Amino acid sequence: MMSKLGVAVVGMSMMLQAVAQEARPDPKATEAWTPEPARIVPGTATRAPSDAVVLFDGTDAREWVSAASPAKAAGWTVADGTLTVRGGSGDIQTRRTFTDYQIHLEWRVPATLTGTGQARGNSGLFLSTGTGNGYELQILDCADNKTYVNGQAASIYKQHVPLVNACAAAGEWQTYDVIWTAPRFGADGALVSPAYVTALHNGVLVQNHVALTGESLHAGRPAYRKHGAAPIKLQDHGDAVSFRNIWVRPL
Ligand code: MG
Repeated sequence: MMSKLGVAVVGMSMMLQAVAQEARPDPKATEAWTPEPARIVPGTATRAPSDAVVLFDGTDAREWVSAASPAKAAGWTVADGTLTVRGGSGDIQTRRTFTDYQIHLEWRVPATLTGTGQARGNSGLFLSTGTGNGYELQILDCADNKTYVNGQAASIYKQHVPLVNACAAAGEWQTYDVIWTAPRFGADGALVSPAYVTALHNGVLVQNHVALTGESLHAGRPAYRKHGAAPIKLQDHGDAVSFRNIWVRPL
């Protein structure tokens, strides 16, 4: 027969056990079940994800217009599944406008380049046209081509040097995968939050969530001016740079 003291000890230990059980957090309490992320079919090297807006699939340039005269069709060449700069025809931009997005684009500079520095396979992916100048992720031959480092391929032109030079040889296809966060402005036009860019060049991280200081300028300091959703633009810098497999996923 248990003594009174024994009964008290057993009772106390049962109480402590109950308290300990109560204090142990329930793992279910921290599980989130909704909302479920949308199920999509991921892309491959040649196929866009199922929820992407395809901007160029090799057949036509219907998603693009002249940047100088948006009522006019893009003046670049579509042939052999590629979209190629026709020097002097001008920049082209998307018909649609975008705010935040993920983009995939493949580009190729000619294998037969003769220029140097900025005159060697120059084009550009303007992540937003902004108020006109836009924000340029540089496209340029950089396999064997010296130029200022904040103007080389995968630089945010005159703002951010790429973390590494991930260039392939001229004449080879290269990829850009970019996450763009548009700048935000207040009603008075003041900057609320800057634009951010994360970019991979040929699958290698080259810009890691860098904050931009404004729209790209060839000369002078970048500056922000209020804008909203805007087109994406590709640059005609005179070189016959080609593009293929361009798609975008608005976020
Ligand atoms: Mg350029």
